[in-house]
Amino acid sequence: MAKLIILGSSNAISSKESENTHMVLVGEERIVMVDCVNNPIHRLNQAGVDFLGLTDMVLTHFHPDHVSGVPLLLMDMWLRGRTEPINIYGLHHTLDRMETLMHLYSWENWPDFFPVAFHRLPESEKTLLFDSDDFKVTSSPVHHLIPAIGLRFDFKNSQKSLAYSCDTEPCEEVARLAEGVDVLIHEATGASQGHSSAQQAGQIASRAEVGKLYLIHYPTGEYANGNLIDEAHQHYQGEVVLATDFMTLDF
Ligand SMILES: [Zn+2]
Repeated sequence: MAKLIILGSSNAISSKESENTHMVLVGEERIVMVDCVNNPIHRLNQAGVDFLGLTDMVLTHFHPDHVSGVPLLLMDMWLRGRTEPINIYGLHHTLDRMETLMHLYSWENWPDFFPVAFHRLPESEKTLLFDSDDFKVTSSPVHHLIPAIGLRFDFKNSQKSLAYSCDTEPCEEVARLAEGVDVLIHEATGASQGHSSAQQAGQIASRAEVGKLYLIHYPTGEYANGNLIDEAHQHYQGEVVLATDFMTLDF
């Protein structure tokens, strides 16, 4: 059975209990990290996932609260003797910058560095990233401050499905990507340019007729405010859950 582990649930200003939003999907064949922040190996270890076992990484957009951990993760894998290649998926905007960042770290001079395959995705709806025995992964562009993608996972064994909005204003692309999924994980930073409130997340969940709504990327610690679950329920009648770090969802 595949599972999703929430490794972080906070917006850009993380707190002691809540790391920046990122997650890992563990299947039989593939282990997929979605965004990568801080030094991710500690959260992965705490979640019982060997960081050397990661096969794929999806980078939703090039903001530090989503990709700051990539250089250190790659370096730690290299230092631990990884030889297996890793796949990294993202838009041109994201991967061009990630490659530039790695060049600034002179990674071409790191001896015997394992192969990294960058897969540049078009900014078109329902783009296929890969199709494995565990799940099929697709992406759609969403409405953030910079080019960004939301994701959908369709699980083979259970026939269940999951969508993740990433950072976005409420948009039809997410509603279409998430249409009829069992679980929608939607951001709830608050109503502002490039972001959504919990109430707006509820509207999208309603429009997409999803089975269950998880709110993520919300203000935490001293910045936590309001009852986000009640706000989402103003427009969505299904179950609403506040995603928290290390929450695990089985598919
Ligand atoms: Zn962002």
